[in-house]
Amino acid sequence: MANLSATCPICQADNPLDTNQSDGEEIYCCYCQSPVIARKVDRYTWVLVDIDEDRKTHIRKAAKKAEAKSEEEGMSKAFQEFEFDDSGGHGGGKKGGGH
Ligand SMILES: [Zn+2]
Repeated sequence: MANLSATCPICQADNPLDTNQSDGEEIYCCYCQSPVIARKVDRYTWVLVDIDEDRKTHIRKAAKKAEAKSEEEGMSKAFQEFEFDDSGGHGGGKKGGGH
């Protein structure tokens, strides 16, 4: 059995990990009790990611995906999505940014 461990992004302590957690699972640092995301690099290598950082990465990825998609499908789709998002109650008010 391999002994897995990963460094906490908050307190830099070495956390022992189980092999049965799944990629992207939220766990708690044994030392500072911060919620962190366990990310699998490969079978024997895991990293712990700050939840905020993990979320940011996901949002960035999603935004990139949406961007690529809108280029494929044309601006009308992107505009629809923008309108939908705007009516979702974010109250942005910053409409008509020059594009
Ligand atoms: Zn910690």
